[in-house]
Amino acid sequence: MSRNYDSLHDPNAEYTMRELSSETMGVTGTRGGGRDVEITDVQTTMVDGNFPWTLVRVYTDAGVVGTGEAYWGAGVPELIERMKPFVVGENPLDIDRLYEHLIQKMSGEGSVEGVTVTAISGIEVALHDLAGKILDVPAYQLLGGKYRDKMRVYCDCHTEEEADPEACADEAERVVDELGYDALKFDLDVPSGLEKDRANRHLRPGEIRHKAEIVEKVTERVKDKADVAFDCHWTFSGGSAKRLADAIEEYDVWWLEDPVPPENLEVQEEVTKSTTTPIAVGENRYRVTELRRLIENQAVDIVAPDLPKVGGMRETRKIADVANQYYVPVAMHNVASPVATMAAAHVGASIPNSLAIEYHSYELDWWSDLVEEDVIEDGSIEVPEKPGLGVTLDMDTVEAHMVDGETLFD
Ligand SMILES: [Mg+2]
Repeated sequence: MSRNYDSLHDPNAEYTMRELSSETMGVTGTRGGGRDVEITDVQTTMVDGNFPWTLVRVYTDAGVVGTGEAYWGAGVPELIERMKPFVVGENPLDIDRLYEHLIQKMSGEGSVEGVTVTAISGIEVALHDLAGKILDVPAYQLLGGKYRDKMRVYCDCHTEEEADPEACADEAERVVDELGYDALKFDLDVPSGLEKDRANRHLRPGEIRHKAEIVEKVTERVKDKADVAFDCHWTFSGGSAKRLADAIEEYDVWWLEDPVPPENLEVQEEVTKSTTTPIAVGENRYRVTELRRLIENQAVDIVAPDLPKVGGMRETRKIADVANQYYVPVAMHNVASPVATMAAAHVGASIPNSLAIEYHSYELDWWSDLVEEDVIEDGSIEVPEKPGLGVTLDMDTVEAHMVDGETLFD
């Protein structure tokens, strides 16, 4: 039969594509111990945090609800709504199969990378919360158990005087001494005032000296009290990135992040192999298939997947497994609410090569109010022992900060 949008949207339609639904896979759905459960609904609500967080809830006929989160982005809630017929009626305990099912069903609509993968990630995270609650185990247990009880968190830092090296050093000292973090990150793609034309990606010598001064002032101020990473947001040419990485080799840099644009793996590899400054990359690549090439080509020293964007918890785990084959640590990029941040903590606990998880919201005073539980304390997350992710949405806070036009979950 020919396929069109309407036939794809109809959960009862027949498809010529490979199906991984319970029906076509021959899965009977009959299980003991209260595990014969079906998904009945999927809902989203967007919350206006420092990013528009997409919260996802998956409902079941057992009355158990799983909560997840997808990375922000236009169209993500619509894509999740689009995929709802593909999971309703399925058993939420088949996380792997349902993930592959969604990848297959959306393969003509971009499930290789981009917001389609982001939307699938949000459902996948909610399935882990759901499965943990049904099985009465914390989510890390679903991933093979844990290596550590606490996950280290690094704080992404900002100051209004972002181009002033002393102001950056002051903020670094404040975050370490007053907020209790021993790991930080600062932006290094800040204007120096010496730029002639930022579009050409070329760094002039004075710009490199200015960036090196930020690195020097910050790292020397905190010394052994904190590790410090610096982010370039894909800004520079390969040649300029190499000169910058070389100029900061003498300082104690945790890593230099995304110095060159993400599309060209060969340039990334060249930059990484040119310097002893550790290079971190990964937050805007998708699924293990894309991250695999970065790792196998040894184009990264540290890989930085974003869990609610890259494919979810098991996909991040798979990326970490590949990275571990190459002795590459994982530092998860994270700009999420407490929900996906806690999902990252469960994955981080379950992999040997976990370095730290980002926290990007220290200027948002209600971040932790979104859930009833404590999440980050003294620069780390204690991995919960409660079933699932171990976080409970505070619906009053969700409602108070919903994006205009959104409706609260049932
Ligand atoms: Mg970054």
